Amino acid sequence: MQISDAKVVFIHYTLTSDAGELLDKSPEEEPMGYLHGAGNIIPGLESALTGMSAGEECDVTVEPEQGYGERDEALVQDMPIGAFDGAEEIEPGMRFQAESDQGMRVIEVMAVDGDVVTVDGNHPLAGELLSFKVKVDRVREATAEEVEHGHMHSQEL
Ligand code: ZN
Repeated sequence: MQISDAKVVFIHYTLTSDAGELLDKSPEEEPMGYLHGAGNIIPGLESALTGMSAGEECDVTVEPEQGYGERDEALVQDMPIGAFDGAEEIEPGMRFQAESDQGMRVIEVMAVDGDVVTVDGNHPLAGELLSFKVKVDRVREATAEEVEHGHMHSQEL
């Protein structure tokens, strides 16, 4: 069975940065499952997987615009410390959910200087050239309900 829209696909993958740093990896025994064609994985990886079958492997390099987008320096902002609910101990590296024009996004604290907190709302992988090594584990038809919801329901089907 070939990968196309409305298939549930299970892949083993490793993701490395341009610098060769391991960024992410599917669990050893358990491939990652997703509904193909529903935007559940980044566009560059989804299009590379289209047409592949169980057992096949590929190396995919994904440019930022087909991945997590380019970095946007306008998303690096200073906020008053009072904007952080009851968080007396704000430290660099902490992450928060914040509302924005594009819905909820994760912001990361970059620096704290007195009452001013500098945050970065870019995705941690924005601007990165991403290298995936992928092996397709298995492919199955999605259920009507999965297609309707736009995501996978069960590992087992
Ligand atoms: Zn659902």
